[in-house]
Amino acid sequence: MNDTPVIAVVGSGPIGSAYARELLEAHPTARVVMFEAGPQLTAVPGASVRNITDPGEKDLARERSQGPQAGALRVSLGLPAGTVVEGMFTARQGTHLLDFGGEGSAHAPTFPAAAASTNVGGMGAHWTCATPRPSDTERVDFIDDREWDALIDRAEQLLHVQSAAFADSGVGAAIRALLAEAQGGEPAPSTLPVAGDPQPDGSMRWAGADVVLGPLADPASPLAARFELRDLSLVRRIVVDGARATGVEVEDLRTHATTTVAADLVVVAADAFRTPQLLWASGIRPAALGRYLSEHPVVISTVALSAAQMSRFATEADLDAELARRALNPVDPVAAVNRIPFAEPGHPFSLQVMYAEQPPFPLPADHPLAGNRWGYVNMGYGMRKRPRVEDGVTFSDEELDYRGLPNMTIEYALTEAEEAEIADATARLRRIGETLGTFVTEPRLLPNGSSLHFQGTTRLGTADDGTSVADPHSRVWGFENVYVGGNGTIPTATTMNPTLMSVALAVRGARDAAGRV
Ligand code: FAD
Repeated sequence: MNDTPVIAVVGSGPIGSAYARELLEAHPTARVVMFEAGPQLTAVPGASVRNITDPGEKDLARERSQGPQAGALRVSLGLPAGTVVEGMFTARQGTHLLDFGGEGSAHAPTFPAAAASTNVGGMGAHWTCATPRPSDTERVDFIDDREWDALIDRAEQLLHVQSAAFADSGVGAAIRALLAEAQGGEPAPSTLPVAGDPQPDGSMRWAGADVVLGPLADPASPLAARFELRDLSLVRRIVVDGARATGVEVEDLRTHATTTVAADLVVVAADAFRTPQLLWASGIRPAALGRYLSEHPVVISTVALSAAQMSRFATEADLDAELARRALNPVDPVAAVNRIPFAEPGHPFSLQVMYAEQPPFPLPADHPLAGNRWGYVNMGYGMRKRPRVEDGVTFSDEELDYRGLPNMTIEYALTEAEEAEIADATARLRRIGETLGTFVTEPRLLPNGSSLHFQGTTRLGTADDGTSVADPHSRVWGFENVYVGGNGTIPTATTMNPTLMSVALAVRGARDAAGRV
């Protein structure tokens, strides 16, 4: 037994951060070294880019997160300069497409919107912070209710989840009343829990990996002395000796020097594509690795809120109060957010409804719905994708990606079961939109991969039977000291935003891991 065991954590997103925090809080002497391929963007590591008020600084932070599509960073890392070939789709700000069209790009014609973030804090520096709890069959069935509730409670603490954010909004309440009318039964609309800290002035400080790290990122805390974060440090391989990992091989992307760092335990939380990629590159290749890829098909639309309908439940004063709150942060004006959660039977989808004073794209001044006094809602249904072995990512030993790791090919298809639920949800979105107002954009299904909630590729399971990659505590089958974390561990078909669930699974994994070092 080593008195001061070293734990290597690969990836600095919310999940790697949850592992680091839980491990250090559970173990009195262990040290955690966290490796992150991307740059640190904010003074406190992993803070949400949405909290940056200066628009230029915010743009730069997003650009620096865009890995192979990151312009100046691309050049600074010694990658060939020049224009990145435009793909068919544009990545969301702060992310880069996996299939970005340039040299070393992944191949994902059937999952074209798949994207990643490469920066300290991962996608958690860019996320929308929606943190609903999974329900019914969205949950895993191998953790009993009591333990599960405690894990979710802990995950909510780590992420600073507010269950009643913006609950005081009169506009939000009016939208909920109209949603309830259109829904005409259970489940009832409710406010959407979000991760962040409400400020005294009514604005929100959004949560990122910074709040999950908590004391680890506070130099005054004794835990910080046992934690080290190395940015621009790409883990190329887990070094394995039989059934044990003995360390990680790391390239310093500033100097390109590669060193091996000895470790007593390795946690890989490098997102749902790069976690299985690193395992594959390390010769850790369970049959289910990369398979069972799922996400949520997403149908969205924007609706201009009807004055007549909204006035039934809200006053002009409510509207003014809502607009005043949004004006507190003009760069990131978020307020009333509502949802109708997943429930079986009857509502096998999640609906999210975000209030906005402007549509997400500029309308011409003479457009009949431009400058709508009561504003707009952006609505989206998330639907299930049933996990199938056919859907997934494969890795090539011959063709390397832009980092020199085994390149990825993603294969993915919706089946009749999904098509039927998509059609149902689209019809509901139309009905609800008509109750709320007038469509600015008709309901439309986004391209595969658009949810950014990629699941299943390192899924957990109760038996080493080829249908899972890790055990119910996230320990990779056949290895004593290798853990996986992130949305890839979720084995179920879900419709909700997955980060809260993945943090809960990480808390469980970290507690198990702490007992082994
Ligand atoms: P990530 O946050 O992706 O972090 C993984 C990190 O690992 C990355 O920083 C990456 O650079 C690093 N890495 C990869 N490979 C290596 C390597 N070999 N060596 C070293 N480092 C490596 N989820 C929700 O639940 N609710 C939302 O509202 C929501 N909205 C979103 C909105 C946007 C715009 C985006 C981009 C995402 C959103 N998500 C949302 C998804 C959410 O951000 C992810 O679920 C979450 O960040 C996953 O955490 P993670 O730590 O597993 O992975």
